[in-house]
Amino acid sequence: MTTTKKPTGSRQTRSVATTGKAPSRGARKAQPKGDGEGPTPAIPRRRASVVVIGSINMDLVVRVPHLPAPGETLAGSSFQTLPGGKGANQAVAVARLGGRSILVGRVGDDAFGAQLVQGLRREGIDTRHVAKLPGTRSGVAVIHVEDSAQNSIAIVAGANARLRPTDLRKLESLIAKADAVLLQLEIPLETVRAALQIARRHEVFTVLDSAPVPPGGLPATLREMDILSPNQSEAALISGHPCDTPDDAVRAADVLIERHNPGIVVVKLGAQGSLAHAGTGDPLFTPSFSVKALDTTAAGDAFTAALTLRMAEGAELSEALLFANAAGALATTRMGAQNSMPTRAEVERFLRRAQKERSSRGP
Ligand code: ADP
Repeated sequence: MTTTKKPTGSRQTRSVATTGKAPSRGARKAQPKGDGEGPTPAIPRRRASVVVIGSINMDLVVRVPHLPAPGETLAGSSFQTLPGGKGANQAVAVARLGGRSILVGRVGDDAFGAQLVQGLRREGIDTRHVAKLPGTRSGVAVIHVEDSAQNSIAIVAGANARLRPTDLRKLESLIAKADAVLLQLEIPLETVRAALQIARRHEVFTVLDSAPVPPGGLPATLREMDILSPNQSEAALISGHPCDTPDDAVRAADVLIERHNPGIVVVKLGAQGSLAHAGTGDPLFTPSFSVKALDTTAAGDAFTAALTLRMAEGAELSEALLFANAAGALATTRMGAQNSMPTRAEVERFLRRAQKERSSRGP
């Protein structure tokens, strides 16, 4: 694509799934020739920019022998504070994968807020649009993890709830210049809606990770994003259909396409891989990589961030999905959320090794 402006997101992307062409502005011409060794090109000379608009939390993690019952007092065996929030997790993933990662969000003027912003900066994320709100607490997630790895989570949105549509209107030129905008649902829905509208107005590629699904389901007013990416349980919840297999995912995607009119639905299928469907043309199933999974926390965040970045760089959909599957698989091999996000070099090495193994096995 040589034009400087992208055609309107969803329409163009719909042909992405059928033709495999990605609608990225500028990114395609920034693509290097590739390193000649592997299936993914190294970081393009002009790094694609991804504006992540989302939540920033401190996760308060308590290890317990079992999840506390009502009225029960338990002795936990350890306590950790870990940076989290889906927006921050995905911003970290974009930065480690070599993108220019710009985070738009809110923290409180408490100790957590300062710590969170410092950590994000250390990752090389542009935090100029992460405001510390006076008199407000930072978002927290209180997590109990029992020895069997079962957990229970209570999230208090805090400052995240104060990111308003008017804040985004002030950032219209930042959004307009981005190669992609990446959204999740841990900030107010009207802010997500405003972000989609602004990005669409400027023909910027948009990705919505539909987690967590709001109690009333995904509102029909969230629509016409380029990629809508639920995981299995979210796809089932939103569509009202089970989503256990790739075939189920196609049926769920059809419902989502009808209701939200995205360019493509990409269903994350855990250890099975992922399924992309545009409504027309053949669905594209990308099997997962076989890894020794230790902790699947934030595998979805690694996947969605990787997919967004490669699309922003101008990759073809099939290649972007392969890259995202690799990033998701690598994230499962390490404990934690932001901790487990892989770097570009790690994903490329992993893909090269997987390709070598595949070719040594023969057709
Ligand atoms: P979420 O974390 O949102 O629930 P998933 O569990 O579906 O999302 O994981 C996201 C992606 O990570 C999957 O689509 C797949 O590519 C990869 N992945 C997840 N679990 C595994 C696994 N056990 N083995 C290999 N890849 C995995």
